[in-house]
Amino acid sequence: MVGNYSGCLCIRASRIWDFYDPRDETKLLHIDLVLIDKEGNSIHAQIYPPITEMFKPLIKEGSVYNISFIQVKKSNRMYKPVKNDIIINFTRWTTVEEVVEVPTAFPVITYSLTPIDKLPSHVEDREYFTDVIGTVTGISGVSPVRPRSQQADTLKRTVTIRDASNVSLDVVLWVERATSFPAEQLHKDGQNSPQIVIFVGTLVRSYAVTLAQQLAYNEPNTFVAEHRKVSDIKYLHPFTNKKTEWLVTVKVMKIDKSWWYNSCKKCLKTAKPHGNTFKCTNHTCNTIGAINPRYKLAITAGDETGDTEFILFGRIAQRLIKRTVDALIADNPPRFIPDEITRLLEKVFTFNVSFTENTISSGNVSFQVNAIVAEIDDGNPLPLTPIGSQSSSLVLSQSAGSSVQATPEKDITFTLTSPATRTKRARSPAAL
Ligand SMILES: [Zn+2]
Repeated sequence: MVGNYSGCLCIRASRIWDFYDPRDETKLLHIDLVLIDKEGNSIHAQIYPPITEMFKPLIKEGSVYNISFIQVKKSNRMYKPVKNDIIINFTRWTTVEEVVEVPTAFPVITYSLTPIDKLPSHVEDREYFTDVIGTVTGISGVSPVRPRSQQADTLKRTVTIRDASNVSLDVVLWVERATSFPAEQLHKDGQNSPQIVIFVGTLVRSYAVTLAQQLAYNEPNTFVAEHRKVSDIKYLHPFTNKKTEWLVTVKVMKIDKSWWYNSCKKCLKTAKPHGNTFKCTNHTCNTIGAINPRYKLAITAGDETGDTEFILFGRIAQRLIKRTVDALIADNPPRFIPDEITRLLEKVFTFNVSFTENTISSGNVSFQVNAIVAEIDDGNPLPLTPIGSQSSSLVLSQSAGSSVQATPEKDITFTLTSPATRTKRARSPAAL
């Protein structure tokens, strides 16, 4: 279900909001979107800098787009705007094309309402944002207040709503949500008919997920790595070549200062200091305390057509360096590149490589070394090792179950059509 998805999704950008660093309001952390497909399935999507600049002018709230080349990940653990256990990340390679002729039945908005009298049990629940509906019974003006947690004044507006069972609720809007709320219009229209408002993205709640849709694509079962020049592979599309392996013969030109990291014993991902111990940064793992130093050797290497970055992890690096990572750490001062590693400079190797997973997330092209096929003597370039004798490292068998499955949740989606109703939206930061 998670992975890189090259297919095309037709979706409406139902909501878009910018998420700034709470400690630095000039720093955009990410752009968030709620996307809806024509069946009403909804999903949270995020765009991280620096590609926020690229997509900002391309996507308008409310418009429908065909998007391709996205990353599908497990959803965030907190502050989910819709019920879905996966999330979409835009990448440098994501394409966005506006759909001009939108089918009339294409859903516009999505929400999942919580009755007001059920809200108290959701107060400390931060997994989901909460959506509420009610008739407006009061709107305050915008006034400056100074919350205890902050140094400066901020703007606040309170909207009071009441639901069908006559329970009242104050919805507090902050800053631009306060100023952009169409108070005057609602007040004017309210003279003739009750004004019904939906607030989305306000609180938190837990939820179960159902399987609604399946996305699948076919991959060939077997790959045989072919020899390529660096310039032939570094400009290829990392989505459409994500599991392809190539052979390259390259000379090591540069070695990165950081050559090892603290890896989680369970999943091998990076572990960061956590009090007196370490915690895995992989959110689906989160293991505390169990770490191992592991090689992560980043080198720049190339041939006559160009150069690029290659990453050698763990045992692959050890085969090249010929010593264990523990021994090298013990024998060398911190932040020093050991001689055993600098000795690799100017050497020529034939590697079996493929795009790193990080290529798509970071937007920086790099290749991971899957196998060291040959070391080529200086001044005495050896012919490549024949493919037949290296078949175990050149042929990768894919298991049959390598299809991507996405399981978006089917949301309650309907549009209020009564002339007596209006829908207006306000999003986080808003407190109930
Ligand atoms: Zn882990």
